[in-house]
Parts: sequence; structure tokens; C-alpha cells
Amino acid sequence: MNKIKQFLFSKQKDSKYKIYKILGIKFKFKNFIRLTEIDLKNKIDEQVDEKIIKIMPQNVLNLVAIHLAEHCNLNCQMCDNFSPVAEKEFADIDILKKDLTRLFELTNGKINEISLTGGEAALHPQLNDVLTMVRTIFTNVNIVLHSNGIIIPSMKEVFWKTCADNNIELVLTKYPINIDLKKIEDMAEKYNVKLTYFNGTETVKTSYHIPFDLEGRQDSCKNFINCFHANNCVYLRNGRMYTCSPAANLRHFNKYFNKNLPDCPENSINIFEVKNMQEIMNFLAKPIPLCQYCYISKRKFDIPWAVSKKDINEWVEA
Ligand code: SF4
Ligand code: SF4
Repeated sequence: MNKIKQFLFSKQKDSKYKIYKILGIKFKFKNFIRLTEIDLKNKIDEQVDEKIIKIMPQNVLNLVAIHLAEHCNLNCQMCDNFSPVAEKEFADIDILKKDLTRLFELTNGKINEISLTGGEAALHPQLNDVLTMVRTIFTNVNIVLHSNGIIIPSMKEVFWKTCADNNIELVLTKYPINIDLKKIEDMAEKYNVKLTYFNGTETVKTSYHIPFDLEGRQDSCKNFINCFHANNCVYLRNGRMYTCSPAANLRHFNKYFNKNLPDCPENSINIFEVKNMQEIMNFLAKPIPLCQYCYISKRKFDIPWAVSKKDINEWVEA
């Protein structure tokens, strides 16, 4: 914790400068310039607000993501779920039911959103049963089914009725591929299913490169605080919760590329072994062993979208 505090804020002085270090960023002020408390507070507010939230345990879990399928029918390059290199695998409905029942017990049903995702979640062969089961346990939570849309136009009537009856929101991510969105919109309207587009109707998905450093030379705390996944893309899988998607899905990367990045129990917390939700929230707000292997400073965004070549360079940086 001290290491984190020091990283968040430290103050030094030499003969010429006062040096404030905020989130690892240095601010140098000549000694004759008097930095008022307000100046300093403004600078801290500007730079720290969105970062400090990473290490603050959430009061109420904002979102918990669950993979219904590990593989995907689209296979985007650099996918941070590693779906292009994942084997065909579906969530076991009995395990999921047990996990969600435990999560309900811990949260008293208070979660802002359950996000059913993947891979392509809609490929799950018992999709309608899964949707009904999740709604039966979490009666008052926003339940969202994420999809790339490819198979949605061919979904049967029972799918649309299940979504409507169980108040499941369908969220499509728009990829630069040919999909009959009009048909999807018409079906959603016909069956009164809430349909939204991820990041709005105008946004078309680009790729982002969020590479690993295979040598593990990175600073875990610095990475965690600067990582958009951390304490934000929370995952539940087989009785364990993860602070981010790369940690929850690392096994696909390790297996396909024959690597050994730390896919250890310390990357997650067992929801059946904790006393309460606070223990989980505290865990999710701290760096994990895998953080040392994320190359946050080499992340690149808004790369033109493309299909994966399953090349390791999509997921690593030298
Ligand atoms: S649609 Fe693309 S980014 Fe989404 S899970 Fe499939 S491969 Fe990954
Ligand atoms: S392992 Fe750490 S740095 Fe990497 S994505 Fe997860 S939270 Fe972020």
C-alpha cells in the first residue's frame, strides 16, 4: 500500500526546484514560485481523479461480465478476450447458476449490470435457458447480452420472446462488416426488446493493441492505475472474480502460444471463500501478478479493424 501511496503522490526539493510526483508524472516548480494549495489541488484533481478510482474499492459492483462462449464467430485482431485463439468452449449452465446464486447472496442482489458476453455469447446452445436463469436469480439487475450481431438476424422467435419476457437488453457492437441491422432493429421492435449499440449508433469498432511484455519488466502499480480494464472490466468465471478481462482469459493466450504468463490463483478471488463482498471489492482494487506483464505504455488505440491472423504480435510487444 505504501508503494501505491508513494506512486500516487510524493514531494521532493533540491536547491532549484520543488518536484511533485503525481501518478509517476513529475511536476517541477522553481523554488521562488509559491505553489498555492489551490494550484496544487487543481493539478491533482486534473490528473488523479480518473486514476485514483482504480484503487478505491467499489461500493456497489458496477458491472460483472460473464463469458457464455470463449470462442467467437468474428475473430478480431488483438481481441482482449483472446477469442481468436480460444478453443470452442461454452459456459456450463449449472456452474453459472451456482456462481450467480453465491453472488446474489454476497451482494443481496445489488449489482448495476450483469453483462453476458464472450467470445460471441449468442452462440451458446442453451442461450434462452441461461437468460431465464440469470433473470430468475437477479430479478432487479440490468442484464445485458452483448453480441457482434452476426447470428442475431437468424435467431428464432423464442430468443426474442425470452429477451422480452426477462427484460434482457441486447447490445450490439458495430463492426465494419456486413450485417442486416435493419432486420435486427425490426425484430427488436416487434418483440419489444431493448436494443442499443455499444458506444452509440455512430461508433464503428476499431481495434486496440494492448500488449503483454513477455519478460514481465513492468511496474504493477503504475500499470494498474493507468489501465482502463482495472477494477472496471470485472469478470466472474468458475467461482472466481477477476479485475480485468486479460486475467480472466489469459489461459487461451498461454495455451495457443505455448507461453507461461502467470495464470495463478492470485490473479483472482474465490467467491465461495470470502466472508463478504467487501473482501472482493478490496481485492478488485489492487494490482495482481499479471499486471507486471502488461505493457501499458505501448497500448495503441483506434487502429483500423481487421480479422486476426492469430499472430502473437497482436498481443505482445518486445
Ligand atoms: S467480436 Fe471481436 S472483439 Fe468481440 S469477442 Fe469476438 S473476436 Fe473478440
Ligand atoms: S493485468 Fe493489470 S494492467 Fe493488465 S489489464 Fe489486468 S488490471 Fe490492467
